[in-house]
Amino acid sequence: MNNKFSSKSAVSKSKYYPVYLSFGSNINNRKRNIEKALAELARNNINQIKISSYYKTSPVGPEQRDFYNLVGKFKTYLTPKELLNRIKEIENYLGRVKTVKWGPRIIDMDILFYSNKIIKEKKLTVPHKEIQNRLFILQPLNEISPNLIHPIYKKQIKTLLKITLTKFNDTVTKI
Ligand code: AMP
Repeated sequence: MNNKFSSKSAVSKSKYYPVYLSFGSNINNRKRNIEKALAELARNNINQIKISSYYKTSPVGPEQRDFYNLVGKFKTYLTPKELLNRIKEIENYLGRVKTVKWGPRIIDMDILFYSNKIIKEKKLTVPHKEIQNRLFILQPLNEISPNLIHPIYKKQIKTLLKITLTKFNDTVTKI
């Protein structure tokens, strides 16, 4: 058979999932690094739907420069594992060098949500396990998708943000 319904790849590629990714950078030109990561995603079948503003965040861990952070909603037909591998490849391509835990980085990309899937594997936890503790994720997420429901906590992002604001007072400023 040779019609568009017989091709395996055409079938699998018709299934796009919404995913949310986070971005952080605190080395060199921080905004430019995040822009480059966004451009690489677009070249890798991870299509942008909407992105937040940039936010400036005081760092956790060792003394270092402020981070620029952003979150985005994308759609992709990559599986969660393929998506993780792809974003790690892009981090390496953009020159990320592993240093100390929570140390400075050219680019850090994480998967926040993959549709409403819950994944607990050795190398991948989705939703990302720190969402509810990180204002630099919740604030930009609240800007683009306040009504999105966290599939484990069963709460909207705007509600999680309100709760987290009562617990942490890190400085996260929209720029
Ligand atoms: P990082 O320091 O942010 O680059 O993350 C280190 C490791 O966390 C990665 O190599 C992944 O295997 C693992 N990991 C687990 N869950 C996630 C997730 N939701 N997004 C990105 N990395 C994850």
